[in-house]
Amino acid sequence: MGEYFNVADIFGEDVFTERVMRERLPKKVYRALRQTIEEGKELDLATADVIASAMKDWAIEKGATHYSHWFQPLTGVTAEKHDSFITAPDAEGRILLEFSGKELIKGEPDASSFPSGGLRATFEARGYTAWDCTSPAFVRHDAAGAILCIPTAFCSYTGEALDQKTPLLRSMEAINTQALRVLRLFGNTTSKKVTPCVGPEQEYFLVDEKKFRQRKDLIFTGRTLFGAMPPKGQELDDHYFGAIRQRIASFMKDVNEELWKLGVSAKTQHNEAAPAQHELAPIYAQANVAVDHNQIIMQTLKRVASAHGMKCLLHEKPFAGVNGSGKHNNWSLTTDDGINLLDPGKTPHENVQFLFVLTCILKAVDRHADLLRESAADPGNDHRLGADEAPPAIISVFLGEQLEDVLTQLIRTGTATHSLNGGVLETGVKTLPNLAKDATDRNRTSPFAFTGNKFEFRMVGSRDSIAAPNVVLNTIVAEAFSEACDELEQAENFDEAVHDLIKRYAREHQRIVFNGNGYSEEWVEEAARRGLPNLKSMVDAIPALVTDKAVRLFGTFGVFTKAELESRVEIQYEAYAKAINIEARAMIDIASKQIIPAVIRYTKSLADTVNSVTAAGVEAAVQTELLKETSTLLGETKEALAKLTQVTAQAAQMEAGQAQARYYYEAVMPAMNALRTPVDELEMIVDKDVWPMPSYGDLIFEV
Ligand code: ADP
Ligand code: MG
Repeated sequence: MGEYFNVADIFGEDVFTERVMRERLPKKVYRALRQTIEEGKELDLATADVIASAMKDWAIEKGATHYSHWFQPLTGVTAEKHDSFITAPDAEGRILLEFSGKELIKGEPDASSFPSGGLRATFEARGYTAWDCTSPAFVRHDAAGAILCIPTAFCSYTGEALDQKTPLLRSMEAINTQALRVLRLFGNTTSKKVTPCVGPEQEYFLVDEKKFRQRKDLIFTGRTLFGAMPPKGQELDDHYFGAIRQRIASFMKDVNEELWKLGVSAKTQHNEAAPAQHELAPIYAQANVAVDHNQIIMQTLKRVASAHGMKCLLHEKPFAGVNGSGKHNNWSLTTDDGINLLDPGKTPHENVQFLFVLTCILKAVDRHADLLRESAADPGNDHRLGADEAPPAIISVFLGEQLEDVLTQLIRTGTATHSLNGGVLETGVKTLPNLAKDATDRNRTSPFAFTGNKFEFRMVGSRDSIAAPNVVLNTIVAEAFSEACDELEQAENFDEAVHDLIKRYAREHQRIVFNGNGYSEEWVEEAARRGLPNLKSMVDAIPALVTDKAVRLFGTFGVFTKAELESRVEIQYEAYAKAINIEARAMIDIASKQIIPAVIRYTKSLADTVNSVTAAGVEAAVQTELLKETSTLLGETKEALAKLTQVTAQAAQMEAGQAQARYYYEAVMPAMNALRTPVDELEMIVDKDVWPMPSYGDLIFEV
């Protein structure tokens, strides 16, 4: 047993927290920084110098030798470059440790190798990282020693966003402005700021590192490209919420300890539906911090797994036939004085405001369902969305019986007079029911579910940054708020106008509400009748980013320019093509160099057996039958391999862009599936000792 500790003592010990700042910064400097954090005031260089120096001293006490601007380019992972604090040695060979305000607030990484989607000509390689002082700096300890990590946004020389963070911060400003208008309309004069809050639940798999090393598909692509189902899958549901085995428990203990030190409030851990699958959820935080923390969580899971002789798989679908992994993005809007705009509340007055917020969200999601779907698009997620384990690729909203009933009443009669739990409340002009907090049931099949005082967007892939979905959520809701406020601010009778607006929005966007089984075939048909988009793959989803509707939306709220959107489209198509290309080539490699040779060895030993048995005068019927069956499948494998090799070569010759991505989706992916089929059948008949890699059973049942 390891050592025990008090969580409260270690929580945030490696973070340059509010408290550390207050203790270490001169009062004036501290106040200036608070103003920057709270009100977005610009930080002057003299103040930045003082902060940098205090940050450096603090980091050095924690053992830090380097600092790094930590950012999230469009590669899907975080990026960092380490600079040590040392200065040039003086005449006597001594060095100083320095860190200036300029180095704190601005970095200039050579950006030519990060995806820019044509935004930056390669000769203009310069990119800038800018300190996001609303997400705290931290010291990370690993094999590289201790590094002071400074969360930053990453832009081009001309200020275009090259990362996930910049648009997220812009979208947070947009929703803040518009939500404050809403609050003022409803008579709130005290709240100063509205922040989107996010709690992402992270799913992942753990496998034994030695076995992982024997699977080239896992090494190169993060998922298995071959693999027959083991005799037992997840049908017994005995893993979900099951007792956590000691090897895993000790891993979780270390993960929690590391996360707590980094100020990440790891809260919930449990086994997930599939064998070897687990989940970790932190307590929710403001959106940009939640995005950073989610990256820290993913990195920590990987690092700690390695230290425990395991590998953490964050891919959305590491194993066919059992559940994949996602990330539930819980989202709400909270004021600086603690009001959650998505809380149904207790007083009728707040209920009107809640119904207003709710119907605005319905309108936003209905109008921009395609954008939300796109924000969860990822090559790995294509294997999940629509399979019987994750929400379908069709966006709909689950409200629960009670809320849906309230909306129906509003639509039918113009007045909601009761709620299903029987409570009736007078609101003065109109009557609206009080909405009990726990009135929403669970519906695991809905991609966008109201769960008490937040919405849960369940489409997001496990490996993806949660930035994109939150950029979309913040912006589309800002738009709906803005349009509603434009109208209500002109109204003569606010109470009547707001009631009419709620009713109208509810009626106009009713089609997005669906409380039934999202996994069913009937829903696919019903959704088509309702005219809801069903974007089955990433390739189908990407164009949503550059429709006139999207360009107008993101332009109006200053979140993306048209050029930025176009660059992201280009990057997405390329990312898709590259991902499938790597998978196809890995399959070709594994099939040619490992599987076919192994099967040939097996057929040879079978043929030898047939000969020797026959020579002994005994009939070798079973052996002959097996030999025939194996040889037939071997032939099919060879043929499918040839086809895959041909289409992959063809795809690689195409120009990058939509047509190439589509070719990967429509020609290469099916060829990959066609190769997998005979190989998985072979795995079922070939001697296990001959098979060149660990099986699904070895991987997921023997961690
Ligand atoms: P579930 O039943 O879906 O597991 P939990 O209550 O455990 O729901 O919360 C799941 C995630 O949602 C956690 O990360 C939690 O912090 C987050 N969460 C809870 N309330 C809110 C809220 N008001 N806004 C955003 N996230 C929230
Ligand atoms: Mg959940």
